[in-house]
Amino acid sequence: MDRYKMYIGGEWCEAASGAWFETENPFTGKVWAEVARGGEADAARAAEAAHKAFTTGPWPTLTATQRGALLRRVGDLIAERAEFLADCEVRDNGKLKVEMLGQLRYIPQWFYYYGGLADKIEGAVIPIDKPGVFNYTLHEPLGVCVAITAWNSPLLLATWKIAPALAAGNTVIIKPSEFTSTSALEYVKLFEEAGFPPGVVNVVTGYGPEVGQPLIEHPLVRKIAFTGSVASGERVNMAAAKGLKRISLELGGKSPNIVFADANLDNAVKGAIAGIFAASGQTCIAGSRLLLHDSIHDEFLDRLLAMAGSAKMGDPMDMGTEIGPITTRPQYQKTLDYIDIARADGATLRLGGGKATRAGCGDGWFVEPTIFSGVENGMRIAQEEVFGPILSVIRFKDDEDAIRIANDVVYGLAAGVWTQDITRALTMTKRLQAGTVWVNTYRAVSFTSPMGGYKSSGIGRVNGQEMILDYLQTKSAWIDTNPTFPSPFALR
Ligand code: NDP
Repeated sequence: MDRYKMYIGGEWCEAASGAWFETENPFTGKVWAEVARGGEADAARAAEAAHKAFTTGPWPTLTATQRGALLRRVGDLIAERAEFLADCEVRDNGKLKVEMLGQLRYIPQWFYYYGGLADKIEGAVIPIDKPGVFNYTLHEPLGVCVAITAWNSPLLLATWKIAPALAAGNTVIIKPSEFTSTSALEYVKLFEEAGFPPGVVNVVTGYGPEVGQPLIEHPLVRKIAFTGSVASGERVNMAAAKGLKRISLELGGKSPNIVFADANLDNAVKGAIAGIFAASGQTCIAGSRLLLHDSIHDEFLDRLLAMAGSAKMGDPMDMGTEIGPITTRPQYQKTLDYIDIARADGATLRLGGGKATRAGCGDGWFVEPTIFSGVENGMRIAQEEVFGPILSVIRFKDDEDAIRIANDVVYGLAAGVWTQDITRALTMTKRLQAGTVWVNTYRAVSFTSPMGGYKSSGIGRVNGQEMILDYLQTKSAWIDTNPTFPSPFALR
């Protein structure tokens, strides 16, 4: 069995306690590796190593242009090893190789983009309202940043945080999910190979409360970038409040995917499938509530059932597979429980509705693609994030009704709108309470465009230029060229 140590200060190390935990392959349901089970002492060691790298040694003396070059170099190395890293991800999280390889081939773009941005972080010369005084601003790094990630897209989520953090001159500690720790430990080797000094990028592994919480609370840590559930996000936010640390939270969603009568229905059916069955519904931006206009409801549902019902399930490593297993045992059980909840609440089961026992699914944690119609927006299946392949279909009467239903959840991560009418597209985009609105597409992301949540879906944004400011603090510098200092008892 493989054994994975942590990477702290440029060294591979076991947990101070000597403890390990097991990681399973969701397709076989079998343990395939052991990972160091970090705790408070390991969190402190990582924070100290990252702080040392931030304050001494080569990292703080590099020019922004040199930092940018290092980021681009690691981008090249990830591009070269994309297939190997994708295989690591699939073994640990069971998502489709076609999806993970696509992510790994795309990840270098974040390093190229933020590497390019590193030496374009400019301050301003401020025309100050006081004669003889010169004022300018500097954007400076924060220090040690902690990146805590979920299990669904481990390296993509880590990259969204660490590429801008490093471009800004910070040092980082990655704490991957206990379910998918191994890919981060392979990925970090490429930073060493690219020439990042020891301690600039560290990985600690273990359980959130055991090693994640002490990391957040460590006095040398200045920023926490977190992806996970709302419940954990609230705990992380409270822990970060002590010590007044910067925080960004990418949390869950219950996103509406709204199909109007004038939509291109062929595309909208594919968009509905992409919204909920891609990645077996295990995406924060899952379009888990499908809102259908009364006039197309039945026809649309028939087409959807036909397409979803013929999706190929099986080995996620097979490039032809369309739906893979659920990543974790608890998530598998939770998904099955929600099927029972929806039935008990009176939703009508139209497809799936349980474990998948088809040939090719083996002992893996597979759930059939499941569709409920007749869902009322007040039902738990429409209000609570499942994070599995379960779609709730909800009827609406008109545009006002669609907006009311769409916004009637605590979440606000994303929304989809399918229409050919430009006025409707613009109105919906304006009135939907979501950090991302897609019109006539779904599940599109880019390193250039901000993404994040309204309401309980999070705080802060990832991607795009402006979010680099989340990893910087502004200093205002005042230089007085006047020959004499005026009265010391009045505000200057
Ligand atoms: P969790 O909230 O369970 O865990 C997320 C991470 O936080 C894990 O690394 C976990 O560690 C860690 N963690 C948990 N509790 C604490 C704590 N008290 N202190 C520090 N760290 C802690 O989420 P899941 O991993 O189950 O991921 C699924 C969730 O992530 C969904 O809600 C999904 O919507 C959301 N998500 C949001 C995205 C976005 O961009 N908005 C993208 C992807 C997912 P461990 O598991 O090892 O205990």
